Order: sequence, then C-alpha cells, then structure tokens
Amino acid sequence: MSFKNEYLKEVMDRVIARNAGEPEFHQAVREVLESIEPVIDAHPEYVKMGIVDSIVEPERIIKFRVPWVDDNGKVQINRGFRIQFNSAIGPYKGGLRFHPSVYEGIIKFLGFEQIFKNSLTGLPIGGGKGGSDFDPKGKSDMEVMRFCQSFMTELSKHIGADTDVPAGDIGVGGREIGYMFGQYKRLRNEFTGVLTGKGLTYGGSLARTEATGFGLCYFVDEMLKDNGKSFEGQTVVISGSGNVAIYAAQKATELGGKVVALSDSNGYIYDKNGIDLDAVKQIKEVERKRIKEYLNYHKDAQYTEGCSGIWSIKCDIALPCATQNEIDEKSAKTLVANGCYAVGEGANMPSTLEATKVFLDNGVLFAPAKAANAGGVATSALEMSQNSMRYSWTFEEVDAKLKGIMQNIYKNASSAAAEYGMKGNLVAGANIAGFLKVANAMLAHGIV
Ligand code: NDP
Repeated sequence: MSFKNEYLKEVMDRVIARNAGEPEFHQAVREVLESIEPVIDAHPEYVKMGIVDSIVEPERIIKFRVPWVDDNGKVQINRGFRIQFNSAIGPYKGGLRFHPSVYEGIIKFLGFEQIFKNSLTGLPIGGGKGGSDFDPKGKSDMEVMRFCQSFMTELSKHIGADTDVPAGDIGVGGREIGYMFGQYKRLRNEFTGVLTGKGLTYGGSLARTEATGFGLCYFVDEMLKDNGKSFEGQTVVISGSGNVAIYAAQKATELGGKVVALSDSNGYIYDKNGIDLDAVKQIKEVERKRIKEYLNYHKDAQYTEGCSGIWSIKCDIALPCATQNEIDEKSAKTLVANGCYAVGEGANMPSTLEATKVFLDNGVLFAPAKAANAGGVATSALEMSQNSMRYSWTFEEVDAKLKGIMQNIYKNASSAAAEYGMKGNLVAGANIAGFLKVANAMLAHGIV
C-alpha cells in the first residue's frame, strides 16, 4: 500500500533514509503510518507540531560494549543496546532481548511497537526496548551470570524505577532478570523496582510469568465472543515453546481449545491428542532442552525439522508466539486455505505486512501483537505499582486485573477502528488508539 497523504509519505521516506539497513524498523513504522492516515487527515495540529516526525525518532539510543569471560577463561565481547524511544506518557518500559540476531534495527522496531502497546494498556508507561547479540543457549549458569553482570554494569547508568524499567523478552527469563537485579542492587545500593519479571522472593508479581500468554488468550477470547465464537472445541496451533507460547497453550486449553502443535527454532511437534504441557514445561523450563525431546514422553507424537512448516497443520486458531516475520504470505495463504479463521499474535510482529493483508482480505479475525500481547507489559506495570506500594496482590487479583485490561484493549481498538470507518480491522484500531493518547500527551508537552 502507498500513502495518499503526502506528509506521511515524506516521513516514511525519511525513516528509510535515516535508518538504512533496518528493514524490521521500516516495516513497523509503515504499518503504523498507514493506519493513522485518517487521523492525520483529520488533525492538522499533529502535522504542525511535528508529532509524527518526533514519534519515529527515538529520544535516546544507548549502545555499549559488553565484555565477559567464558568458562575457558577466554574474553568474549558482545554488544548491548537500550533504546529509550518515547517517554510522553510514562517512564520507558519494555523488555531486553538476548539473541544472536539482535542489532540496532531489531531493538528499534521493538521499541517503536512498545510505545503504542504500552499506551493501549491504559497504564502510565512509555516505550523502550533493549538487548544484546549474546546467545544464552548452551551457556553455563555462571557464564550467563557474568554476562548479565557486565551488561548491567553499563545499563545501570541509564535506567531507574522512575526513568526506565526493563523486563524480559526472548532469551531473558527469571534467571537473567535475577542476575541483572542483583548487580543493579549492588552497584546502586538501592532496592527498587528497576526491573520487572523479578522472582517472587524479591519483589516480583504473581501472574507475571503467565501474563503475556494468558493475556493473548483473553484478548482472542473477547474477539471470538464478539463474533459469536469461542475457543471451545477448536484446534489451536501455537509456534514457539518459550514463555509466551507455553502460557498461551495453558490458557487456550483451559478455555476449551485443543493445542496440537508447538515449535522451537529447530522444528515443531504435532500431537493429535493435544499437547502435554507438563512435559513441555519439564523440557523447556527445567531442562532447557529442544522441543524434539517431547518424543521421549509421547512416542506417537510427530517431530518435523524446520519451524515454518508448523503453519501447514490444519487448525481453527493460530497463535504465532515465537518471533518476528515467522508467518509470510505463503504460510498465511496455507492457513486460510486450511480453514484457519482466527489469528492472535503473541510474538511481536510475527506476520509480515503481506501476510497480514492475506488475513484481513480473507476475513480472518486478526488480533495484532500490539494489542493482543500487551498483557505482559501491563502486568509488569502492575508489578511496578506493587513495588511502589511495597505490597503484593494475590494471583487471582493480578489475573483479574489482567483480564480487565485485555478486554478494555479489545474494546478500545475495535471502537477506534469503527470510528475511523474500518470496522473489524484491529490492526488499524490498535494503531490509532495507541497513537492518539501518546500524540496528545506530546502536544501538551510542546516541542521537547
Ligand atoms: P522465549 O525466549 O521464552 O521463547 C522464544 C521461543 O521462540 C522459543 O521457543 C524459541 O526457540 C523461538 N524462537 C526465537 N527466535 C526464533 C527464530 N528466529 N526462529 C524460530 N523460532 C524462534 O521468548 P518469549 O516467549 O518471551 O518471546 C516470544 C515472542 O513474544 C517474542 O516475539 C517477544 O518479543 C514476544 N513478547 C514477549 C513478551 C514476554 O512477556 N515475554 C511480551 C510481549 C511480547 P529457540 O529456543 O529454539 O530459540
């Protein structure tokens, strides 16, 4: 799609020129700018005050060397990043990703998405993201600890409970957050809620581990109900087998769905009897092994090498929960041809722009990541509230708040879509609703 609005076209061209070689960031910006076209047409004040030009430019990019020593005594050097994208509505908030594919463009796309996602939660949090090209896979606990301590030694200069509060993402779970929190506390001599996703013994929130996956299913459930459907008796395919995938599988099952497939970056498993989640948790959360090991628990399940084939499995509902651009146009067409009628994005930007178009053109009920996976960061914001109050809510209290937040996000995205003449298009609705709150705060602050 191209822009009818000249100003937006110019902004897009500038983003491409100034951020050369960062296709994921271009993709994320294009999707938002296309969605907000009717808003910009109706509100010349945003153009006059340079709101769109400002929102695509990070407030601050921090890039640093992370030296650490491996178990053989060899010095290793990784790169660390923190992009503090937008603080118009609250302190920067967003996860840290440790994966070899991380470079500035990935962190920029994730940080940009985070601005709108955080706005949609209705909570006072700005957008940021960070990470490193460090690969925790195959490293010993001590190597991971030394890396995390070195990473935090630099990062600690730039974050704080009222400034920037990182959390987990791919490759960063409870273990990594623990090591980073320990180092921050040691360096600053402060016990504050500077990270979320913390362990329950030192300020973590109940239900944070489950929040993104559970929240995704609450959102999809709301979307299904609004269209006279439900998870009950439906076949569900979920990609990934990490934090988001596991708890999405648990909630989809609780809501009556039958999850038949999960994957990792090597391949996918198919179990026609429904995935045994206790086995998956043992393999992934306890032993940190490959999903292929599932065959040791269920001999009649099937394992296939390569992760993209998972989308050829016949299903009613697909929940991509692994990584960006994991569903391309071809996979989207296969899903549609096989009768898949609902897609909920647990991962960030898992569908390419072409795949998203296939879903929307074919009337698939489509829950975009920005809205559908906001439950993780929303619960992180609830963790911040509990830390500030020096108090903790029960699992049920946090879960009920999470559910309410996801229902509200659905309501807001779907009414924004209808208001701007795109009923049912939650991609447009989420982008518009997320944008308006941040843009209005930026207008109020003047040119800063
Ligand atoms: P985890 O590291 O716990 O799990 C990631 C899963 O995705 C693993 O199964 C991993 O397989 C697979 N994966 C990662 N990269 C690739 C790749 N390049 N190709 C194929 N498979 C891949 O991460 P999370 O579950 O936390 O995150 C998953 C997605 O959800 C990400 O897009 C993240 O940004 C998003 N998200 C996470 C939130 C959270 O609260 N954790 C909040 C909102 C969004 P392998 O082990 O083989 O690498």
